[in-house]
Amino acid sequence: MGMPVSGKLTAKPLPHIPALKAYTPGIQPTDKGWIKLNTNELPYPPSPKVAEAILNELAGTGESLRLYPNPTSAPLRQTIAKLHGLTEQQVCIGNGSDDILNLIIRCSAGGTSETGMTFPSYSLYPVLVGIQNGVTVSIPFDRSMRLPVEKIVASKASVFFLTSPNAPTGVAFSNTDIETILKGYQGLLVVDEAYAPFASHDAVSLLAHYPNLVIVRTLSKAYALAGIRVGYCLANPEVIGWLDRVRDSYNVNRLSQAAAMGALLDPLYYNTVVNKVKATRDTQYKLWTEKRGWFTYRSEANFLFTEPKNAQLQTGPEVAKQVYDFLVSHKILVRLFASHALTASFIRISIGTDAEMAALNETLDAWLKAKSALNA
Ligand SMILES: *Cc1c(COP(=O)(O)O)cnc(C)c1O
Repeated sequence: MGMPVSGKLTAKPLPHIPALKAYTPGIQPTDKGWIKLNTNELPYPPSPKVAEAILNELAGTGESLRLYPNPTSAPLRQTIAKLHGLTEQQVCIGNGSDDILNLIIRCSAGGTSETGMTFPSYSLYPVLVGIQNGVTVSIPFDRSMRLPVEKIVASKASVFFLTSPNAPTGVAFSNTDIETILKGYQGLLVVDEAYAPFASHDAVSLLAHYPNLVIVRTLSKAYALAGIRVGYCLANPEVIGWLDRVRDSYNVNRLSQAAAMGALLDPLYYNTVVNKVKATRDTQYKLWTEKRGWFTYRSEANFLFTEPKNAQLQTGPEVAKQVYDFLVSHKILVRLFASHALTASFIRISIGTDAEMAALNETLDAWLKAKSALNA
């Protein structure tokens, strides 16, 4: 029991703080038995080298925890630079890639400076801009989800966030399109490549020619380390210098630095599990588009964005909500994006194990049967 609060709070935050709306993370149930296909975590465990590296760091009594971690995560910067054929000066490590996104926004948003993004994309960006009391400018897709290249080029935003492959659609953008933007746009172009390890290409090679490009990566998805909170960005050394000026001096803890090193040293393991996820994704895509006849975006990520059809072949926000509720009642979690017409009739489903996908498909069949019986 806490002490009751008496007296009146007279302190005040900055005027924009009470109006902020915090980011809504996907549900993380604490009870057992859920099939969790709502937050794009990998369904397989991290490499055994991760636990090994953590135990090694703890070495018996955890003596090393007495000491602050490496302030720049230098060994990780070196390893990641090597991995991408870059220099250490082109890498910054974050407490999750959300930390990196926040650092970029801390350097660029506020006052009348505009922060650009597409809609839909990762819904954390506008939340971070709001914290800086900055201005968000959103460029909407149409249903084709083709990149509005000219509109981005014409944007006056000082920084523009592009998610590729995009969330929640899974659609990846070509390097040709990204290059066209880089040739015309004067601000910082941030390509958030959280899902690039599941895609057929990435934009890393463009860093050599375009100093305004920043690429953001995470170990949360393809490295199965969402719980460890490590992400990074690749950019021009000057931009890395900005981020280093505004980040917490010890932004990545010892155990996370060790875990990330362990993961990055086991590329063979990750090749195998990532390839497995891609194969499962492509099997599901075929099943939903061809057998079920559900419109589904071609995904290069570890999830699918699909528009469910009921037994009467109807689609729409109500149908998506019905599927979502039916799945929840069978302890399967997926994600709905009900707040916008472009996304409201879809559900986003993270790619799970074969057993999880089989259970999902059986439950979807049961939903269709229940619906057609109801309407018979
Ligand atoms: C999951 C996700 C992130 C968050 O990554 P963390 O490293 O866990 O903070 C960033 N961007 C996109 C587009 C994501 O989907």
